[in-house]
Amino acid sequence: MSAFQKETVLSVKHWTDSLFSFTATRDPGFRFQNGQFAMIGLEVEGRPLLRAYSMASANHEEALEFFSIKVADGPLTSRLQRIREGDTILVGRKATGTLIAGNLIPGKRLLLLSTGTGLAPFASLIKDPDVYDAYETIILAHGCRQVSELAYGEALVEKLREDELFGPLIADKLIYYPTVTREPFRNRGRITDLIASNQLFDDIGLSGLDIETDRVMMCGSPGMLEELRSMFTSRGFAEGNHSEPGHFVIEKAFVER
Ligand SMILES: Cc1cc2nc3c(=O)[nH]c(=O)nc-3n(C[C@H](O)[C@H](O)[C@H](O)COP(=O)(O)OP(=O)(O)OC[C@H]3O[C@@H](n4cnc5c(N)ncnc54)[C@H](O)[C@@H]3O)c2cc1C
Repeated sequence: MSAFQKETVLSVKHWTDSLFSFTATRDPGFRFQNGQFAMIGLEVEGRPLLRAYSMASANHEEALEFFSIKVADGPLTSRLQRIREGDTILVGRKATGTLIAGNLIPGKRLLLLSTGTGLAPFASLIKDPDVYDAYETIILAHGCRQVSELAYGEALVEKLREDELFGPLIADKLIYYPTVTREPFRNRGRITDLIASNQLFDDIGLSGLDIETDRVMMCGSPGMLEELRSMFTSRGFAEGNHSEPGHFVIEKAFVER
């Protein structure tokens, strides 16, 4: 059995010059936990060209969804950005990753901190009813340079709020906090600074960081993650993993090559 499955693209949406999302069929045997990633890609010159991608769809959904960057000279995304409905993509059979609920000690407030396409695993997690059972409040922070880069996240949250099942479930629990660094917007600044200064909590009208109640998942640029890791570690938060749950877990949204 091959390590990956061929799936059919069902829809593609371009959000900006550098961001797009797409849905694809899902093999019924492909199981994953919300927040995990898999290797996906295209067959190029007869060979699989694969990269790590977080599932942006939840595991109860029939189709798969991905939220992707477009890197002009990127081996995969220079091609992937041209996919259309009906095209074939490759999806690895094995899902993995640290951004899963079981890697965190139980808590009351879940902070999901993301930049750029680091939103993808949280798009999956905020569609997980168990997450709303496990936490009293879920704060989804998404940082981008420009307002236009927030569009995928804004549409996602709006759709959930309008959903018959999820709407009532998330109404009092999900707080969405988009922020932008390079343009005027209602929330401005880097997530790291907004947490360090308490501005994020002031803006949403909640108390500041508290190790007793707060659990954190982070996904973004390697630089942002290093800053956040040292900030949380210096406040006594312990990093969790598969062998030992902690106060926070980290996944890189991409690696620098
Ligand atoms: C655990 C994990 C999960 C990932 N999940 C996603 C995802 O859900 N969506 C997604 O678009 N990418 C994701 N990536 C990145 C992805 O694996 C590829 O790097 C990306 O698709 C670009 O592939 P490429 O072959 O075109 O260029 P690559 O050669 O892979 O990358 C070229 C350069 O582009 C930049 N870059 C790559 N990916 C990104 C990105 N997402 N945001 C900003 N800059 C980037 C980096 O500077 C990198 O050095 C993930 C990476 C990891 C490690």
